[in-house]
Amino acid sequence: MNGHFAGTGKDVTAEDFEHGVQIIDQDKNFNDNLGAYLQLEGITRAGFNYHLISVFGSQSTGKSTLLNYLFGTHFGVMSEQERRQTTKGIWMSKNKKEGAKEEGRMAENILVMDVEGTDGRERGEDQDFERKSALFALATSEVLIVNIWEHQVGLYQGANMGLLKTVFEVNLQLFLKDAKSVPRSLLFFVIRDHLGTTPLSNLQNTLIQDLQRIWSGLSKPSGLEKSKIEDYFDFAFVALPHKILQPERFEQEVQKLGTRFRDGYKDPKRAGLVDEQEEPVLLPQYHRRIPADGFPMYARGIWEQIDSNKDLDLPTQQELLAQFRCDEISKEVLVPFDEAISPLEEQQNQAVAAGKPSVIPELGKLMTTARSVLLASFEVEASRYHKGVYKRKQTELEGKVDGRLKTLFQGQMTAAHKAGLNDFSEAVTQAVKTGQKKGGSYDFHKIVSTEKEKALSRFQAQAQASIVEKTPWSDYKQQLNLYRKEIDEVSSRLRQEEMRRLANRSERWVRAKLDESVGLEFNKLGSGRGGSGAPEHGQKPPTEKDLWDRIWNVFTETVSHAETRFTDRARSFDASPDEVEVGLWRLRRKSWAALRAKIDEEMMEGNLLLKLRENFEDKFRYDEEGVPRIWRPTDDIEGMYTRARESTLELIPLLSRFKLSRTSAPPPLDAWIGEAPSNVTPADEEDLPPIGGVDDDEAKTLEDEMTILSDAKAADLSTRFKKTADGVYVEAKRSAIGGVTQ
Ligand code: GDP
Ligand code: MG
Repeated sequence: MNGHFAGTGKDVTAEDFEHGVQIIDQDKNFNDNLGAYLQLEGITRAGFNYHLISVFGSQSTGKSTLLNYLFGTHFGVMSEQERRQTTKGIWMSKNKKEGAKEEGRMAENILVMDVEGTDGRERGEDQDFERKSALFALATSEVLIVNIWEHQVGLYQGANMGLLKTVFEVNLQLFLKDAKSVPRSLLFFVIRDHLGTTPLSNLQNTLIQDLQRIWSGLSKPSGLEKSKIEDYFDFAFVALPHKILQPERFEQEVQKLGTRFRDGYKDPKRAGLVDEQEEPVLLPQYHRRIPADGFPMYARGIWEQIDSNKDLDLPTQQELLAQFRCDEISKEVLVPFDEAISPLEEQQNQAVAAGKPSVIPELGKLMTTARSVLLASFEVEASRYHKGVYKRKQTELEGKVDGRLKTLFQGQMTAAHKAGLNDFSEAVTQAVKTGQKKGGSYDFHKIVSTEKEKALSRFQAQAQASIVEKTPWSDYKQQLNLYRKEIDEVSSRLRQEEMRRLANRSERWVRAKLDESVGLEFNKLGSGRGGSGAPEHGQKPPTEKDLWDRIWNVFTETVSHAETRFTDRARSFDASPDEVEVGLWRLRRKSWAALRAKIDEEMMEGNLLLKLRENFEDKFRYDEEGVPRIWRPTDDIEGMYTRARESTLELIPLLSRFKLSRTSAPPPLDAWIGEAPSNVTPADEEDLPPIGGVDDDEAKTLEDEMTILSDAKAADLSTRFKKTADGVYVEAKRSAIGGVTQ
């Protein structure tokens, strides 16, 4: 079978079909315009709601005339004068007459086939066509009108009997393969030019006897030897008056007969002989069950098989037709589907290509509608065809569209997933920023859990709105789980960032505190008695000797305070004990580095020299009560100078090493910092400078770490301090002499 049908070939108009459509021409070619004709007559979409009636009989027995009277068709008829054969091949036309007025009883879409008449006496080629056209009519028609002159009845050897023999043979051949569902056919005998002398019942009996005789004379295929003619055929008989001699009666009777054809079905469940003159003709059991839209193609396929003398296998033909039509219907229903779905696919692909995942709103609804419209239209059109083929093609079609919809659905899930994670991360970051702007007190844990809740319900809503109804694959449980997992991963990354921010804040706090308190301790050096002015009552005055003890104390207290705050904050947003441990370890190291930097700043040469000078001057120029001395020549200026200088010089070795006075050893920095936690990552260590005596692999020892001034620097400092002190001494000396002079 190929696809020549339904409007293929050249453009045709109603005028081309004035006499109907010539399905088969005299050269036995099938007409490509049958589809166009059915389209024009509005039958293509009728499904099973159409009927096919064929007429048979010898040439020039008034067949075309009869059909034209019955159905208002315009088949060509032989003019009275010329008397030569007119109908060639097989013609088809739609009934042009109105049906019964009674609602629901009208047989709609009656198609009539006018078959070229035969004459047994003519050439063998005609007998070939006779056989072929009989096969064709039987395979397609519900009713075969056998047109016969009254005077031919009983002429057993006549041309008509030859034709009937052919019909029976062909019928056996045709429905052999489909023995389970043999469609019945109605042989409707129309006896022409009935004079009335022989009653119809007699003519009918004669004909039946002849038919039985023909049937029993047939060589039947094995298995069907015992079959009876009634197994396959119903019979009906009608007689018409002479058209020329009794024109009025002829018209009346023809009119009555036409009504029987057009009056549609009732279903009296009858079989066998139909002899009541009032019975409607078209019964459901005669229908060949070829959907109207598939008819042109089926007819062509059948004709090609017949014409090439191949065995006509109707079930196979019907299956082939079903395959072809189901494929075509699939294509048709895919057009609106494509129109709905392709733009969505494009939108999604473009978003993916641009790296901007976008969630298509209402996707589920759009997909569900496109899918159900497609499946419903397919069902309407295709379910009329061979059930097995239809089911298979339906599954194929469903698989095809579901493949595409599934890709869309999954793309949508991916977009919702990516966008959701982004939005979540951004929302948390934004909330933190807002919190920071408002003064830094924000509940990170609450921010994360609120945003997480929002992100999950947003995802769920989007997934729900993307579901294609009635599909087992549109399920997002797995995606939701994955999404939840990744939200948690993002949360933990955000928490780490928050930990970093917290650590930075803690470090800054420690640095600021140390800046102030350590600076204060160093400033005290400027006073030779550990402070300018009298010590406060009840307090042990600070001495220069325990400078480092005080620094270490204030340092460890500050850090300990910071540690407590850090731990509290970190716990508040669910940082794990491990994470807290690492954070604290880093904080201690960074704090030490901050202290070390602060000390180095204080010990910069200029600063230090200034402090030593202040210290010296305080000792030299003020008495024990803190009152400035007025030098007199009798004063032991030299002695006081020497004591004060030596006292200040003692500070240099003291300042050179960070040592605790009670142990004379460096503070237990290594123990205080502690071992690195086991879960420290390289990233955690990246920005940490090494600490001597704490990090094993360092060449620096704890001693090195605690060396504030190298020996060379200390010696240099001593020299420069001495020069400064000398200057102060000389000045004092001068002022003493000057005081005497005055
Ligand atoms: P077809 O070859 O069987 O289609 O026959 P036509 O319909 O072309 O008619 C052949 C001739 O028979 C025409 O000249 C008709 O006028 C004539 N004719 C048609 N119907 C009747 C009829 O009922 N009785 C008689 N005697 N002639 C008829
Ligand atoms: Mg004719």
